[in-house]
Amino acid sequence: MYHPLPRIEIDLAKLTANARLVVDMCRACGISVLGVTKACAGSLQVAQAMLAGGVEMVADSRLENLARLRSSGISPLLQLRLPMISRVDECVTIADISLNSEPTVIAALGEAAHRLGRAHGVVLMVDLGDRREGVAPDDAVELALQAAETRGIEFLGFGTNLTCFGGIIPTRRNLGQLVEIAERFRARSGHPVQVVSGGNSSSLPLVMEGEVPAGVNQLRVGEGILLGRETIGRSVLPGAYQDVFSLVGEVIECLEKPSLPCGEVGEDAFGCVPEFSDRGHRWRAIVALGRQDVLVEGLEPADPGMEILGASSDHLIIDVTEAEQRPHVGEEVRLRIVDYAALLTAMTSPYVTKCYVGEETGYRLDLWSRLPEVSVFEHRDRGPDAASADYRA
Ligand SMILES: *Cc1c(COP(=O)(O)O)cnc(C)c1O
Repeated sequence: MYHPLPRIEIDLAKLTANARLVVDMCRACGISVLGVTKACAGSLQVAQAMLAGGVEMVADSRLENLARLRSSGISPLLQLRLPMISRVDECVTIADISLNSEPTVIAALGEAAHRLGRAHGVVLMVDLGDRREGVAPDDAVELALQAAETRGIEFLGFGTNLTCFGGIIPTRRNLGQLVEIAERFRARSGHPVQVVSGGNSSSLPLVMEGEVPAGVNQLRVGEGILLGRETIGRSVLPGAYQDVFSLVGEVIECLEKPSLPCGEVGEDAFGCVPEFSDRGHRWRAIVALGRQDVLVEGLEPADPGMEILGASSDHLIIDVTEAEQRPHVGEEVRLRIVDYAALLTAMTSPYVTKCYVGEETGYRLDLWSRLPEVSVFEHRDRGPDAASADYRA
């Protein structure tokens, strides 16, 4: 099978092993795990590998990704990003559950769900200090009571998201606040709270320390599974694979050159004035990939003797003088994907072939093809059971 370069290789067996590790770690604390696929553009294979590792449900931030997953038979699905009010019909058709903070959007979701003969699950997000999405803790119970009364809405519980915008670390104290809110809601409404969703991969250190307050029963984990580490200090989860993803490119030049540029210095291709130190003549390889393929700062050569010097849109320059094996033109160079931004950019770049290890398929993600129109009418007459009906792409 011909896989054009550059290609990203995704080891599904290692991915499943990482998912299982996170699921087991969380289960020991009474916590279930949602597998987050957004850094992989909602890849079906990634979702399946996470499910094989025992995640309870797949979650993604984008409707386009969720629609693709749904049409491939993955359900139930949760939309992570707060729904756009302009797309509530799609949201209730494609996602079974969404995270929410705006009463008007919840009302619109309820109206759409009712009209389409569905029930849409809502988790109310509470801002515990990170200052991205979520309502104020003092308003949470009141808004939840309101959501629970909304026709078409199944109110499921409370969630929070930390360490994404404000860099706030999950603690016993702030997550304890979420549990208190859930308890107050239960006392006021008499209804049990099904979901207390205590954050993302940044809550994994608390899980490992056994410090997650009782009552938190769900985490939404992407990076922890994909890259095998937590996201506070980015330390490795013991036993997790760090090399699920690698990027492979082809050498299009390998020549010995002076390490210093020669001539008058102006701005480089991205508006920066580059600085170099004189290391004499060095062997340098140009690999045919660049910033249109990946955020190169998150790459690490698999050969420890190689050093990335920089990149432009389409060229990656590597010092290969001390490489274990100096590459020849036409040969492949393997780079480990070691950060989230590099993973995200490589998975969403239409120039990078996605190649699942162990499978004979490589494909290019067709980002330019639009989400097909959702046929909302298809579901209109189906009654409440239509909630689990497949979305047809
Ligand atoms: C992206 C996201 C997650 C997953 O974050 P990771 O750091 O990859 O674990 C969880 N919840 C929400 C709301 C998100 O947007």
